[in-house]
Amino acid sequence: MKAIVLFGSPGSGKGTQAKVLTRCLKVPHISTGDMLREHIRQGDRLGSAVAARMQSGALVSDEVVEALVEERLAMPDAAGGFVLDGYPRTLAQADHLGRLLDGRGIREMVIYLAVDYNVVIARLTGRRQCPRCGTLYNIVSKPPRDDMRCDLDGEKLVIRDDDREPVIRERLEAYERQTRPVLEHLRLAGRRVVEVDASNDPPDAVSRKICQALECDDRSENCR
Ligand code: ADP
Repeated sequence: MKAIVLFGSPGSGKGTQAKVLTRCLKVPHISTGDMLREHIRQGDRLGSAVAARMQSGALVSDEVVEALVEERLAMPDAAGGFVLDGYPRTLAQADHLGRLLDGRGIREMVIYLAVDYNVVIARLTGRRQCPRCGTLYNIVSKPPRDDMRCDLDGEKLVIRDDDREPVIRERLEAYERQTRPVLEHLRLAGRRVVEVDASNDPPDAVSRKICQALECDDRSENCR
């Protein structure tokens, strides 16, 4: 069972690392942020209920995300493992997940991506996205080849709504206030937590560190 929980502040690279890990371990990537955005995109009741909070950078209610995660983890493709990205983010969510996993006899590994605050700010304010294919760029560390257009389809890059400065501030505040304490809570509860320094290394090097921590075979093609 490969049960991985990626933990870290906004901009710590959880999404990027989750994609590498899911390819390498062949388990699904379960991102609460992506699931919530999908509901908003579909314009269903849940999406309308969470849209305002998400756009302001605040967390949505525990009940909503707990139900989403519980339902998702019960799907057959998650039976052999999963990479959870963006959950848990509050003490209540941590306890909910602990109960869920303990109930199924699963021992998860929490990977904490530790990133310096100033690096996080630079990453989030410089982030640009292709509105058509979703590819992420950064004006400093990963600029597109051609003046603010996507390398893949030439579409003009945009700033994601929640990457605008006031929203970034709110997201980071929510992290400090509600999410950071979860780490100590998990450690005290005896969950396995591994800290990986993810401030300065390129994504590949961070992936290798994670693979070492997981003792997975980082030489395999799939892990590259
Ligand atoms: P990031 O980690 O960069 O902030 P995410 O895509 O993980 O981005 O999350 C985007 C937004 O979705 C959050 O700001 C929050 O509003 C909501 N969200 C995602 N996961 C959770 C969660 N576990 N609990 C509450 N809100 C969440």
